Amino acid sequence: MINSLPTDPGRQAPETLITHLGNHPKQHNGIINMPVYHASTILFPDLASLRKIPAHKDEPGQLVYGRTGTPTSFALQDAISTLENGYQSYVTCSGLAAITTAILAFVDRGDHILVADSVYGPTRHFCDGPLARLGVQTTYYDPTIGTGIGNLITSNTRFIYTESPGSLTFEIQDLPAISTIAHQHNILVLMDNTWATPLYFQPFSHGVDVSIHAATKYIVGHADAMLGLIVANKQTNASIRDAVWMLGQCAGPDDIYLALRGLRTLATRLQCHQDNALVIAHWLQQQPAVLNVLHPGLPDHPGHILWQRDFTGSSGLFSFILKPGPERALAAMLDDMRLFGMGFSWGGYESLMIPTDPAANRTVRPWSEPGNLLRVHIGLEAVDDLITDLALGLERYLKYCPQ
Ligand SMILES: *Cc1c(COP(=O)(O)O)cnc(C)c1O
Repeated sequence: MINSLPTDPGRQAPETLITHLGNHPKQHNGIINMPVYHASTILFPDLASLRKIPAHKDEPGQLVYGRTGTPTSFALQDAISTLENGYQSYVTCSGLAAITTAILAFVDRGDHILVADSVYGPTRHFCDGPLARLGVQTTYYDPTIGTGIGNLITSNTRFIYTESPGSLTFEIQDLPAISTIAHQHNILVLMDNTWATPLYFQPFSHGVDVSIHAATKYIVGHADAMLGLIVANKQTNASIRDAVWMLGQCAGPDDIYLALRGLRTLATRLQCHQDNALVIAHWLQQQPAVLNVLHPGLPDHPGHILWQRDFTGSSGLFSFILKPGPERALAAMLDDMRLFGMGFSWGGYESLMIPTDPAANRTVRPWSEPGNLLRVHIGLEAVDDLITDLALGLERYLKYCPQ
């Protein structure tokens, strides 16, 4: 689609691109924002145009049926594939739907896949459940394996599934090393790029073949919609397109509109999430109640060098480990937080904090750190207010800890 305002992905900065990508005011009476097109049926002007569209062979961008896209979904898809320098992107009803659809696009009974041990929990449950029942075998690997991944590839391995940093524990993966080896074996690399967003990590320039986003998080950015995105390169596009369409993946136009609206402020919001989170991560390192802070932007994080080499920023999500304490210490801390809400998901404007236990979802790199692990999302509040809230929380925690 022709942008009414000229965007130049080769030369313009991401901040400029996100401001304009996907908007076509000249095609919509000068209205800046892409209108919300509610559609199932889309009428064809004549028989000849109907005949021109063979079922399931059309590329996105053609108006055929609501499920395969409207100007509203094309706007978001075009924006995201341009930002990541991918070939084509597809919306799904949630981030998890994007993950399962992308996986199903490439596997057959008898196939084998490699999945990072630190992967998002529900991704793992999908591999161990429905995928195993279909006869696809999953081997989990240490996310810090790097070139060692080559030893795990067998003749029926179809792809390596990556997520960097890892969910809950924030290991950074060596994506260039992994994808070089994958491509030597003629297999693909899939990546969950939710944490970094298209702004802080560019999957395709690091060898990834399919990039996946829970747009629910930073792209929507306001905790008010569920949405997923799959970005394919040219090689993987046909398989992804078929899987998306045959599994019936699509999303409601109002939610897509919210993602487009969120996208406009993504750079500004992320900058603030990043700054606040780094201040708090450094502050937490100084606190006697805290044993460890798992944030790749900290110089002593084991993945810091890789993060510095490959990423252009860090977002607002990280974890920290409290010295061991009983459940009532945790309750004393969490129940009375003023600004940190307790709830799943992240990426909205507000701060969140949730206790998690990675041990249950680990098979290769067991999680045996003592203490309570808290995953925090640092929001857009003033950082001093967040620190005050945390300081009081840690005080409450220590009150119930054995000396
Ligand atoms: C939340 C999340 C998902 C799933 O997204 P939903 O939209 O909640 O289905 C996938 N990957 C990561 C890393 C996530 O944090």
